[in-house]
Amino acid sequence: MRAGVVTPGMRDSAKVVDMPDPVPEPGEVLVRILEVGIDGTDMEISQGHYGEAPPHQDFLVLGHEALGEVEEAGNSDLQKGGLVVLLVRRPDGCINCRSGQSDMCIEGNYSECGIRGSHGFLRELLVEKPDFLVRVPRNLRQVAVLTEPMSIVTKGITQAMELHRRSANPAQVALVLGAGSIGLLATASLRLQGLSTYALDLVPKTSAKGQLVESIGATYLDGRSLGIAELPRQLGNLDIILEATGNSTVAFQAMSALGANGVLCLTGVSAGEKRLQVCADCINMEMVLGNKVVFGTVSSNSGHFERAIEMLADIEQNWPGWLGQFVTRRLPLVEFNNALQPTTDGIKTVIDVLIDIA
Ligand code: BGC
Ligand code: ZN
Repeated sequence: MRAGVVTPGMRDSAKVVDMPDPVPEPGEVLVRILEVGIDGTDMEISQGHYGEAPPHQDFLVLGHEALGEVEEAGNSDLQKGGLVVLLVRRPDGCINCRSGQSDMCIEGNYSECGIRGSHGFLRELLVEKPDFLVRVPRNLRQVAVLTEPMSIVTKGITQAMELHRRSANPAQVALVLGAGSIGLLATASLRLQGLSTYALDLVPKTSAKGQLVESIGATYLDGRSLGIAELPRQLGNLDIILEATGNSTVAFQAMSALGANGVLCLTGVSAGEKRLQVCADCINMEMVLGNKVVFGTVSSNSGHFERAIEMLADIEQNWPGWLGQFVTRRLPLVEFNNALQPTTDGIKTVIDVLIDIA
């Protein structure tokens, strides 16, 4: 079978290789991979900034956003031909990992498929324990490749809403920074929960991102002409901000833009060592006097995946075809190297593993 691999730490090393077909052991499920989404983490790995091969190996099969079909169900209660998505983290022995919450791992000895220490999903076939597979209804075939990013959003927004629950004044205004896949999924999720939602990016309102934001009743803000510091005056008390640019300067600007009792959820990984001068007294004072919360969120567990599947179904029902529109590129596995090159106006690239190369 074919697989898309990289050499972690080496820039532009992505290539398609042949690997032996996996053979399931008792208790394992054989999965045929249909589609794999590419995200910023994959691009950072491909640029050599992030990523780690499995122990004693020098390459890593990439891909952590996958939709597959059960080829052999083994003795699991899955059905042959059923659709599944795959969890990314593989637990260590810590108490959270043992309790199905490897996203909250304490010891840090987890691995992440396609990212850190375990092979990913960008290959034609793989074997997996049923615990790491989540069933997807057939009617979500076209959009379920977005389950993993949706699960990240679901975890972050659920937590932000929980922090607001204590207040008699429910969260009303949300700001999403960055209108890539995570930002757009967050915008849709916040709209579904009834919040007035603004999404900011650095492209014109007439761009695909701007139009996608506006078409679900959110407001697009062009960050090239509007600074984050001006937003509270224009938008009112910012109850929830979700940072999805991965730019640490933006993360600090967002702290100062938070409203009273506001919650800032940080989702972007920043692999560099950028320094920034900030007014530490001001931020500390505002955070304390405003009961503000800043939290980071990473990974997701099976509960978030299940909830994410429901969210995708809700989005499809409310805005049919919207999710499909932000898959801006579909490429065959042979073009996997191209898929890792960032584009200016693209949103989500999906590798269609089934497209035949012949
Ligand atoms: C993935 C997460 C992962 C994180 C950090 C993200 O791109 O979606 O599953 O935990 O990177 O490695
Ligand atoms: Zn753990």
